[in-house]
Amino acid sequence: MVITGLQIHKLLPGTNCKECGSNTCLAFAMKLAAKKTELSQCPYASDEAKTILGAAVEPPVKGLSLGPDGALKIGEDTVLYRHEKTFVHPTLIAVNINDTDPEEVIDFTLESIAAYKMERVGEILSIDMVSITHVHHNSGRFLSLAQKAWEKTRKPLVLCSTDPETLAMAARKLKGSNSVISAATPETANELRLIAVENGHALAVTAPDLNELVTLTSRLRKSGFSNILLQFETFSLAEQFQLNSIARQAALKDSVKSLGYPGLCFVKSTGDFLDDSVTALQEICKYGGICVLPFFDPAQLATLMTLRQNIFTDPQKPIQVEPKVYSIGDPTETSPVFITTNFSLTYFIVSGEIENSGTSAWLVVPECEGMSVLTAWAAGKFSGSSIAKFIKEIGLEERIKTREIVIPGYVAQISGELEESLPGWKVTVGPQEAADIEAFVKARCK
Ligand code: SF4
Repeated sequence: MVITGLQIHKLLPGTNCKECGSNTCLAFAMKLAAKKTELSQCPYASDEAKTILGAAVEPPVKGLSLGPDGALKIGEDTVLYRHEKTFVHPTLIAVNINDTDPEEVIDFTLESIAAYKMERVGEILSIDMVSITHVHHNSGRFLSLAQKAWEKTRKPLVLCSTDPETLAMAARKLKGSNSVISAATPETANELRLIAVENGHALAVTAPDLNELVTLTSRLRKSGFSNILLQFETFSLAEQFQLNSIARQAALKDSVKSLGYPGLCFVKSTGDFLDDSVTALQEICKYGGICVLPFFDPAQLATLMTLRQNIFTDPQKPIQVEPKVYSIGDPTETSPVFITTNFSLTYFIVSGEIENSGTSAWLVVPECEGMSVLTAWAAGKFSGSSIAKFIKEIGLEERIKTREIVIPGYVAQISGELEESLPGWKVTVGPQEAADIEAFVKARCK
């Protein structure tokens, strides 16, 4: 059901109290119709409005919560392209283990998954889920692998089998883990839906083609079940891309509810690192909910985690670090002073290169609204006078005796203004690229 801004307006209190952040109820209604806000922002919405609008303004892609505490979220997207607003929840990354894998491979993979951590721009990135696949002819190995994977990692699982009875047994064993059952077909959907509901899991659904999949999800939806993921049967990268795009377009542009669910995709190992990585990269960019990798490969994970972090940052809110003076190493009151902006990526690259140089230093990071050096300078946020003002405000001159500051080479033009604004300080123009900081520091130490 598409509901217009004017229809929504009739259901709102009409007091124009502004508590929702909009100047009028009409403005709020228009935003709500454009899916740019949520009804919960209006504290005075009536129960009737909540009931009517709740169904009408629910995100075109259903949100799912996974994991024992429901902390892993997928879905809830409202735009096709990241630059239109933002992509909401990052694609979850899972690593697969087959129940026919040798015991030592299983143990190594589970330990690696549990221990995997990658720090990038201040965030700790980790593997979200474990996928286990039923390959062996009987179900015993699969069930004990499910138990083991859950006990060793405490991460929700993707339970993958073509046998509904085995899936049902595994789902019961993992009750409370809020995992994913993969996959229900048109023939097994009714049975597996009940298992998913009873044990609190999500259900991936698959069908030979898109029409049958739409029929299947519509049927489940009519039964009141919506904890669904779409699992397409595809045979090429192009086909997967096409189906992901069709489903997302249909959900967002044509309000096709039966395709408004996050997707589950298994990357099949081709033996080629690049081919496998490209399949996973595509899922992260367009529009995977869960991407299952065929095995644990730290090089591949580093690539995917980096891409995922970049794709799922809000383009309207650059990642920032707190404006302040950071100590790198163990600086004293005569240690060198560097300056950069508070764009996270810039900060972590510069601080990392100072650390690599082996010197201890102070790194001054003024408020630059999360912009990089040249952007901040062009916007007037990284000028000689603003830097001097920040240094005075934080009382740096009272804390250290150093009176030389190294500025990024890209903004050499601010050195005169900075020296004028900071009497008694010498301004040194450092390298343009952070990668040259180490050589710069070593040359000064000679
Ligand atoms: Fe209207 Fe509710 Fe917003 Fe107040 S908070 S202006 S009542 S929509």
